[in-house]
Amino acid sequence: MTRLKLYNTLSGRIEEIVPSDGQPIKMYVCGPTVYSRAHIGNFRTFMATDMLRRTLKFLGMEVLEVMNITDVDDRIIQLASAKDTNIEAFTEEPTRAYLEDLATLRMEIPEVMPKATEHVGEMIALIEQLMARGHTYTVDGSVYFRIASFPSYGGLSRLDVSGIKTGARVDTDKYEKEDARDFVLWKLKGDEPPWAQWDASFGRGRPGWHIECSAMSMKYLGETFDIHCGGVDLIFPHHENEIAQSECGTGKLFAKHWMHVDHLLVENETMSKSKGNVYNIPDLLARGFRSDQIRYMLAQSHYRKAFNFTWDGLAQVETALARIHTFWNRLLEETSTPAGPAHDDVVQAATSALAAFEAALANDLNAPEALAAVHGLVSEGNSVADRGTVNGAGARVLLDALKKMDQVFACFEPPTGDLLSGDEQALFDARQDARKRRDFSAADVARKALQERGVILEDTAKGTRWKRVRA
Ligand code: AMP
Ligand code: ZN
Repeated sequence: MTRLKLYNTLSGRIEEIVPSDGQPIKMYVCGPTVYSRAHIGNFRTFMATDMLRRTLKFLGMEVLEVMNITDVDDRIIQLASAKDTNIEAFTEEPTRAYLEDLATLRMEIPEVMPKATEHVGEMIALIEQLMARGHTYTVDGSVYFRIASFPSYGGLSRLDVSGIKTGARVDTDKYEKEDARDFVLWKLKGDEPPWAQWDASFGRGRPGWHIECSAMSMKYLGETFDIHCGGVDLIFPHHENEIAQSECGTGKLFAKHWMHVDHLLVENETMSKSKGNVYNIPDLLARGFRSDQIRYMLAQSHYRKAFNFTWDGLAQVETALARIHTFWNRLLEETSTPAGPAHDDVVQAATSALAAFEAALANDLNAPEALAAVHGLVSEGNSVADRGTVNGAGARVLLDALKKMDQVFACFEPPTGDLLSGDEQALFDARQDARKRRDFSAADVARKALQERGVILEDTAKGTRWKRVRA
């Protein structure tokens, strides 16, 4: 079995992912905070983790993935209060929208998607464990984690956190602490509405942000698990804090491997509401882009490099994607061609492209190289087909290879919804009729009318094919 080699932020090296005996690969992804619709930056990270789980499966491993839903934090409480509602009612719509966007992007649904508010009991138990082991202190009823009690703090970010001055804002929690690096585990009941408070042995209040990921990951994946993922902005302090809480609570290694996805920028700038460049999936669909184009766009780059989103870049995706879709359709047509076994050069083209594809993904999820292997297969396949060497069996071999690759990219199959509209079909049929009558000028008028609608025709020995291009 080919093993996935993945960069590990913790060690700073590329390391093999090896499942524990008979166990699936256990992965945890810091999921969305459901206070508004997730943006394309969030989906860049979630696309990378979808590619991770799909690659692990492609390589023959089983996966158990947990992705949390953060449904309690300062913003959620403020927004829900402002709307005179509560957490449950307020987060319902953003959560539904998130699941809808996952489906639009053909992302696999993680095996477990726990909500923070449904796991406050587990968080309280972990805080009690940390208290018993002497890792906490209390100020005005709020419980803090004492970083000084965990000497290896900072090992993930390799940041010299000792220099951070007391009083500096490294956390959004504005409470008095012994040390600026310390973070809150439990906030004493303040002005929060009753629906944002829970009872604990150490007082009524609500959890700090970091504790939920430790409690929920360990509940579903065990105290030590394989891969923990998130965007690069979470390395410090969120992931450092998760490690501190978990390892001090259990005395065991928390996650073996840390994967961090670099950010998506918009026109080379960070996204922000003030710049008006925070786009979400419906924004892209509203501009006429299809979900397979958005998926290809988000999946095509290396996860460890920043990705620059531009509208032009998204439009250009169609050139590459249409080439794959057209090839897929061509193979479908050719599968009905009879005669004999597949030719050696066809089998050879499929085998070597698949090997290159697998090697690229196994090498730290190198998506650009994997796509180069896909396009190589399209070129090779098209040229053998042009030479007339592809018979039915050969077309099936090529199509099987392309389908296998699509297990990871999930956008190569031509969209079924992409049929000709009623008008377009009528023009298409009119042109075919005109050609039969040898009325070439009428045929040309219909062809041009289709072209204006973004439908390009190609006449081949097997009949007329069409493909859609963006205007
Ligand atoms: P949040 O909903 O803010 O908790 O973020 C969910 C995930 O999206 C986290 O893993 C973040 O690190 C990630 N993320 C946030 N902004 C971006 C961005 N611009 N590009 C890539 N990932 C991001
Ligand atoms: Zn987290």
